[in-house]
Amino acid sequence: MDWKNILVLVSFILNTLLGLMFYFRAPKKKAYLAFTVTILGIVGWCLTMFLYRISSAGSALYWGRLLYFFPTIIPAGFVIFGLYFPDEKVSKKLVAFIVGLNVLMATLCLAPGAVVRNVVVPSVGEKIIQFGWAYYFLYIFYIPLLFGFSYWVLFRKYRKGSPLVRQQILYILLGLTGASGIGMTTNLVLPTFGNFEYNWLGQVFLFIWVGCASYAIIKHRLVNIRLVVARAVSYVLLLFSLTVFYVFALFSLGTVFYGRVVGRGEIVVNVLLTVTIAFTVYPLRKYLEKITDKIFFKDRYDMEDLLSGLSRSLSSTLVLGELCGNLLKGLLTGMKIDKGVMVILKEGKIVEVYGRGREFSEELIRKVLKGRVEYLLGSSGQPLVYDELAEGRRKRLLEELGYYVSQKLQVKDRVMGVLLLGMKLSGDIYSSRDIEVVDIVAPQASVAIENAFSYEEIRRFSETLKLEVKKATTDLSRTNRKLREVSALKDEFVSLASHELRTPMTAIGGSISTILDGYTGKITQKSREFLEAAYNENARLIRLVNNLLNISRIEAGRLKYDYSEFDLVLIIKEVMENLLSQAKEKGLVLKSKVGKGSVLVRADKDKVREILVNLVGNGIKYTKKGTVTVGLSEKKGKVVCEVADTGIGMGKEEIKKLFKKFSRLDGSRMEAGGTGLGLYICRVLVTGMKEKIWVESTKEKGSRFFFSMRKAKGI
Ligand code: ADP
Repeated sequence: MDWKNILVLVSFILNTLLGLMFYFRAPKKKAYLAFTVTILGIVGWCLTMFLYRISSAGSALYWGRLLYFFPTIIPAGFVIFGLYFPDEKVSKKLVAFIVGLNVLMATLCLAPGAVVRNVVVPSVGEKIIQFGWAYYFLYIFYIPLLFGFSYWVLFRKYRKGSPLVRQQILYILLGLTGASGIGMTTNLVLPTFGNFEYNWLGQVFLFIWVGCASYAIIKHRLVNIRLVVARAVSYVLLLFSLTVFYVFALFSLGTVFYGRVVGRGEIVVNVLLTVTIAFTVYPLRKYLEKITDKIFFKDRYDMEDLLSGLSRSLSSTLVLGELCGNLLKGLLTGMKIDKGVMVILKEGKIVEVYGRGREFSEELIRKVLKGRVEYLLGSSGQPLVYDELAEGRRKRLLEELGYYVSQKLQVKDRVMGVLLLGMKLSGDIYSSRDIEVVDIVAPQASVAIENAFSYEEIRRFSETLKLEVKKATTDLSRTNRKLREVSALKDEFVSLASHELRTPMTAIGGSISTILDGYTGKITQKSREFLEAAYNENARLIRLVNNLLNISRIEAGRLKYDYSEFDLVLIIKEVMENLLSQAKEKGLVLKSKVGKGSVLVRADKDKVREILVNLVGNGIKYTKKGTVTVGLSEKKGKVVCEVADTGIGMGKEEIKKLFKKFSRLDGSRMEAGGTGLGLYICRVLVTGMKEKIWVESTKEKGSRFFFSMRKAKGI
């Protein structure tokens, strides 16, 4: 055998394996089924290539036709795969159209003279195929067009697919590009121009596709590989042994009984038939069994199917009623039983009764079972079956209830309930399989019931919790409302009191200042000192009262801004003049670095004054010796006012606490007295004017407070 044939054969075997993998995955998904068909086309194509190449002149035409027949399936199957992949609904008409087209093309391939007209066997080199009209008019368009369409379909899915789907499509398309590109060149394009030298290459290059698709499968979860490989191997073995047996039988029967030699072609056809039978026997049997079961009402059911269906339905809900309903429904329809009941118990007492099927009466069951439930429980945990019970109260109770099987539902030593089942619709007795099913389902059902109980408990608990929270919230909001009222009253009082205090204090300040200025006659040095002290204390009091007033306005939301354009330098001078004597009292120097000219800003003048009084006041308060300097600068189109001192300063952590209500810092500076309101007010006023306030400070070195203002438009 020449090496080309060996390569073709290897490709055939690999593709068969891949086809089998998909075959086992296919039943539930149309996409995979279509892909299996595609691979079948490839497998057929490889096999016919092999047979075509070894065929004699007599049968070459026959294999030549098949050689063009199989490739018609490949793109058609692949397009349908592409349409369904990964899990999509597809227009049935489109699929039918593609199938129809394929059938037409395939028929033409088999028809004499249409696609393959004749095969010429030269003495050396590859056989030469002479093509018919259908090849030139249809075939050479059919294959590339369908491949092109499948590319388009898959490419669109690639673009909007999930990452996993994209990976899978990528590998499948990559493989396909290699395989179909080469396949179409060697087996379609070249032959069209009479070159048949490389027509075996197409089959061999299907390796690429096989390789890529397998990679996609293993690496990207196209199918569950271990299971599939295991099944595929067992199936291949089965096929192999069947084929060997069959071929052997054919040979021996032929020679021994009929004394004739079986031809090669006949063997191939028979082998193909064997393979087809092996593929189809199992699904066909299942299908027919299902139908006959239905028709004859036979008592057969697939235990595995029933059990997996039941456990799925048990885990699908946490609501007790639904759970029992699902379980009964599954058991009754699966095992073909006329009726069933689930009695749910809690601490030996019946809490719920769920029934299904014929003549269910909750009332009757409750009545009959009253005080007698424990008879049904049995001791072993095995189902109690009416026909197997000895005469006695258990049997009588089941008879009274009209049920035939009773199964205790138990988790560890807690009894969750009893499952009662009626008669089998066929009239048969319960088989050991039936009892096994009940036995297997019972523990699962018990756990599910327990879960449902816990769920119900949690649900109820959360309901109570919700109510409690609601009540607490109502209480809280009532208290909150009261507190607000009291707080509003307090604010009003503070506001009134401050107002009342401010007027006399301003008057006191005025009077003292008049005396100090010498308008009332000469005063002694001693009196001056006392009067100055009185004046400063009074000024501090005024500042405090002003801050209280501001706070009450802020709290009541009564802060209003009255913007105007004014000269900031004048305000700074005014504030410094007012605070001069306080600075002097502590031996501090008050400096201003505001330049010669005026600096016009647009802001609320009174608010700016308040801010300055507070900042400069703090500078004086928190500085033991040195200077307090007020400066002006311009930054990013804003006027920035800076109040710097050489006082006690603050650390980083302390700075973070500033500008909050009542934020007085550590005890060491408490001796300076204060309320912790000044900076808070400054911040509210500055941000109220949509500007910024900030601070830079080093402990023991001094602080620099800044705030920004808008330039007046006039500048
Ligand atoms: P008060 O001065 O009434 O305590 P403030 O809100 O004006 O309240 O200031 C808050 C705190 O910030 C002060 O208690 C003080 O500890 C600190 N502080 C304010 N200004 C300065 C400053 N210039 N230097 C050092 N610490 C300061």
